[in-house]
Amino acid sequence: MKQPKRYLITAALPYANGLKHIGHLAGAYLPADIYVRYLRAQKRDVVFVCGSDEHGTAIPIQATKEGTTAQAIIDKYHPIIEQNFNDLGISFDIYHRTSSPIHHETASEFFTALNNKGDLITKESEQYYDEQSQSFLADRYIKGTCPNCGFQAAYGDQCESCGKSLSPDELINPVSTLSGNTPVKKLTKHWYLPLDRHEDFLRKWIIEEHGNDWRSTVVGQCKSWIDGGLQPRAVTRDLDWGVALPNDVEDGKGKVLYVWFDAPIGYISATKQWALNTGKDWKPYWEDQDTKLIHFIGKDNIVFHCIIFPVMLQLHGNILPTNVPANEFMNLEGDKMSTSRNWKLEMEDYINDFIKPENGGSQLADTLRYYLTAIAPESKDSEFTWKGFQDANNSELVSIFGNFINRALVLMHKLCNGKVPPLHNELLDELDHATIEAIQQSKQKVEQLLEDYKFRDAQFEVINLARIGNQYMQKKEPWILAKQLESNPAAQQLINNCLHICLQLTANLAILSNPFLPFTAKKICYLLKVVDKILDWENAGSMKLLSVGYSLRAPELLFRKIEDEEITNQIEKLKAAAVNKEPIVTTINTNNTQSAAIADTTSVATTESTDKSPVKPEIVFDDFAKIDLKVGTIVAAEKVEKADKLLKLQLDLGFETRTIVSGIAMHFAPADIVGKQVTVVCNLAPRKMRGIESNGMILMAEDANGKLHFINPEDQINPGSGVS
Ligand SMILES: [Zn+2]
Repeated sequence: MKQPKRYLITAALPYANGLKHIGHLAGAYLPADIYVRYLRAQKRDVVFVCGSDEHGTAIPIQATKEGTTAQAIIDKYHPIIEQNFNDLGISFDIYHRTSSPIHHETASEFFTALNNKGDLITKESEQYYDEQSQSFLADRYIKGTCPNCGFQAAYGDQCESCGKSLSPDELINPVSTLSGNTPVKKLTKHWYLPLDRHEDFLRKWIIEEHGNDWRSTVVGQCKSWIDGGLQPRAVTRDLDWGVALPNDVEDGKGKVLYVWFDAPIGYISATKQWALNTGKDWKPYWEDQDTKLIHFIGKDNIVFHCIIFPVMLQLHGNILPTNVPANEFMNLEGDKMSTSRNWKLEMEDYINDFIKPENGGSQLADTLRYYLTAIAPESKDSEFTWKGFQDANNSELVSIFGNFINRALVLMHKLCNGKVPPLHNELLDELDHATIEAIQQSKQKVEQLLEDYKFRDAQFEVINLARIGNQYMQKKEPWILAKQLESNPAAQQLINNCLHICLQLTANLAILSNPFLPFTAKKICYLLKVVDKILDWENAGSMKLLSVGYSLRAPELLFRKIEDEEITNQIEKLKAAAVNKEPIVTTINTNNTQSAAIADTTSVATTESTDKSPVKPEIVFDDFAKIDLKVGTIVAAEKVEKADKLLKLQLDLGFETRTIVSGIAMHFAPADIVGKQVTVVCNLAPRKMRGIESNGMILMAEDANGKLHFINPEDQINPGSGVS
């Protein structure tokens, strides 16, 4: 595969309206960082840009909550978020701000360029207006009942309960959050990006050109947006916070760019600022076709990065993204992570509890990175549990990875005078050769997976190499050989061979783990007394990383055990802080005292575990065998008219596509489930629901909170595969 000349990697700009949680980290920043660290180790020309999104109504709303100004809010959160990312090893080349003059200039110029070319249209429309505060209401300033799920505090742009994107007109019983009054409609003029003009371009670019190399979840969501018909989308708002329209725009006074028009342009302005800081030229990164532009985002951002921003880039003469490896969501302890319900683990909290030097130091940043990557929601939603976190640390990082390296160093000091022993080729046996081969092949394996954005599998290969090392040492038993030194003349040479191979494997682990566990890789370099240069990717697979006779440092433990008590404390802390109804907590709580105070005044999430219902009466195997269960792939989904709870689904069962009506509309938005695999009862007698014949049933699991989950195979498999 031909390498592009340069890479531009972006990670979604986080809103500077509060602290960010690990769901954000796992969704965009961590996979982006792994990819970038790999590219840097490959010596490729790469720039990693990100920054705070400091516009949009979320900022002034947070200011109202905290009793301060919008400027004070962004000045407070921007540096904390930047520091949090830094503490977790996210290695941006620049972490910029959309409040900067260079961004205002860039976004304003972008708007003017499109407006002058006739690529924008204007429309007058009636919008909600708060008579008491004499201002038009941005979507976030309107609350009401969600038409999709009935949640009573949905915002005018999105329902936080079911995740559906909304427009204020769709809300039932809208209320202004500024005054609490019912808003009135008033005429106002706005600029729109006519997305409907670009349907053919998008269909060709996404479905035809990238239908096979982008994640199916991403393509599926785009396809369902395009198939649903694209509408002109407003790029301006009546608001006093944001990038003001240029002065020479007629009727532009009092209006700012809509945040989703201005925020992605933040990637461009960040690149410009980076170029200024480093004396480079920013233009080729956005204009030369030989640049690979990759957007790392969460699935809630797909429409903006795959549909809206590409149309803007295309019109403006910029390059288009090569890939948008969006992740699904990561849940936490059985529920969706949510800032409003305070069901989350903030990066800041994790840093305080685990990474502060007295609690474990930077190695614990790697533990979090490791677990989040091991459960990365690359093809479907995943779940963070504290028990899983503890297991990943204790039984993989401590017992396999750390233990192997520690034993190799301890034994080398004990049995080889603290120096890298020589390799006696004539004595190598089959197991030695197999282990050397595994080391040599690991580079290719990890590399291919990283190039395909399969970070979870790539990391698995790295830990697997450590596992191979452990098993190798266990079979070779150099400590037993040490007892035979007098009786067996070859014993010392066999010990040398074993430890030589183990030490070269250790050096390889430093290189391969570096994108995932950068703090650990550095620590291994320290123990091996080698410079960071060894971490260059081209060195991976080599059996000559450490010279014979070279003396190494005394071993130090790479990872510490996570105790049961720490896990119990975290779970209790999470439950105590949780709020399960509006109003939203007014301050961000980062310590126990405040969290406890909140728990006193609001209902606390229940701690009861799952279903306690008794088991149904016993059946014989033949009864069970009558049920035909197969895996199906949802290829289309739509709401059933006048039926709040029903979705009409088209299921690909391999041998045929059939219609199934399912009562899951309150739980899933149609666009979100296309491409998902489910388990289907195929031989259930057909049944008519709302005039539609349903041919089968989808199996669902319900958790303690009443949330439904599909029952599906761990990885995508052929539709029609039997389940038994
Ligand atoms: Zn809803």
